[in-house]
Amino acid sequence: MITIGILGGGQLGRMTALAAANLGYKTHIYCPEQDCPASHVSSDFTSAAYTDTAALDAFARSVDVITFEFENIPHTSLEQLQAIKPVYPQPTILQKTQDRLIEKNFVQSCDIGTASYQVVDSLDDLKTAVAAIGVPCILKTRTLGYDGKGQYKIADNAPATRTAAWEAMHGQPAILEGFVAFSCEISVVAARTQQGEIALYAATENSHKNHVLDESLVPARISDAVRVKAEAIAGTLAEALNLVGVLAIEMFVTESGDVLVNELAPRPHNSGHWTIDGAMTSQFEQLVRCVVGLPLGATTLRAPQIRMKNLLGEEALDVAAYLQNPAAKLHLYGKKEAKAGRKMGHVTILS
Ligand code: AMP
Repeated sequence: MITIGILGGGQLGRMTALAAANLGYKTHIYCPEQDCPASHVSSDFTSAAYTDTAALDAFARSVDVITFEFENIPHTSLEQLQAIKPVYPQPTILQKTQDRLIEKNFVQSCDIGTASYQVVDSLDDLKTAVAAIGVPCILKTRTLGYDGKGQYKIADNAPATRTAAWEAMHGQPAILEGFVAFSCEISVVAARTQQGEIALYAATENSHKNHVLDESLVPARISDAVRVKAEAIAGTLAEALNLVGVLAIEMFVTESGDVLVNELAPRPHNSGHWTIDGAMTSQFEQLVRCVVGLPLGATTLRAPQIRMKNLLGEEALDVAAYLQNPAAKLHLYGKKEAKAGRKMGHVTILS
């Protein structure tokens, strides 16, 4: 029997493990935290640091193929694993998407637009970059940022604002991005197999609260022209990366109908959770198919309109309210504490 090793034990790993089980595969979760959401639904679990070379070695030898649900895994650890078993998506892809500067350079090298950006390694660099890009703009750490963490919006030209922004980076290399006055945010999840077969999910319209995804709506309320552009971007990036696995592409749509790439995530994505109930094949099953070498499943919608609501913090305590609607599908991730802003689960409503 095939065992899929998954680095990371959060909800993405949990839903991947569930999809793997449905296809008859075992999963082995590797995660530093004990009692993590994915460990509850997998056959094997290793709790060790991502830098523990002995534990990584034993993990790689115990599985047939490796994937990840967590992006901040040191490249050296992935290389160590790859020397023993195949890792999909390939570690070189993660290397590109772990660093916002490398990621944006790569996207632009594919003739795809992004917000304007400049490297910032010092307060002096920040002054030059703000002058070049203009306000408003956002300073972001190049690595380890997610859900708005490691970001600082600069709304004016005051030196004190720049100092506060630079201090918020805690000395880490950063990039300054022009603020995109978007009309909406969308994402497309792409899947690509080892043979180069590609499938795209319908563009999803995303709304955020406090930088965290709150709701996704499918299909996104965008023109056909914008949809075609977004799909072309997703296909181009999946090809250019030689992707094996799934890739989420977060994009800004501007008033004039331009589509700019904000961020890439070479893993299942929160904005693709609707695919479990709303698509013929979920993004998690699609990832499993890619890593074990099966053909892709259909991405067709199961309903004309699908809405996914994240349950953040205490929102997850009122499950009865969501289940008032018999068409609502509830997913809880088995996290113990409903801390403010923590992703506890989601509800999908097909209509
Ligand atoms: P990120 O962590 O880069 O995905 O940013 C989180 C959220 O902040 C995005 O989903 C946007 O809502 C907002 N944001 C990030 N970068 C920009 C930008 N350059 N212009 C406008 N909004 C942004």
